[in-house]
Amino acid sequence: MSETLSGSCLCGGVSVSIPIPPDDSMGVCHCTDCRKSTGTVAGYFLRVSTESFHLDGKEHVKEFTVKADTGNIYRRFFCRDCGSRLWDRDSKETDYVCAGLFPPGTLPKPTYEQFVRHLEKWEKTHEGAKLVQVQS
Ligand SMILES: [Zn+2]
Ligand SMILES: [Zn+2]
Repeated sequence: MSETLSGSCLCGGVSVSIPIPPDDSMGVCHCTDCRKSTGTVAGYFLRVSTESFHLDGKEHVKEFTVKADTGNIYRRFFCRDCGSRLWDRDSKETDYVCAGLFPPGTLPKPTYEQFVRHLEKWEKTHEGAKLVQVQS
């Protein structure tokens, strides 16, 4: 079995594990949906294929479906007990797992940022990150 990275929601009811994230898997999204759904100014996500994403505590998970500005449908999952945002799933079977679920010091640096036009004046993009305006 390959090595995995494990994380959990705040209350511990939901655990997730993914393969050790490759260097190019971390992204930041500044879109207004991510802003509201995470409750902070940007979402940090690890991109993984749905089939390699493992979940425990499914009974604690609730979801909210939104149609993004791009027209894509996103399912946004969260813990019904503590409210932690967990992951997003797009219609192409890709999961974007919320990076904050994982322990400090375990994450690769962001390699892409989306919707940078929504940056606050005092926010800076990450050095070396590719800036994209719209999700592909
Ligand atoms: Zn929880
Ligand atoms: Zn977003």
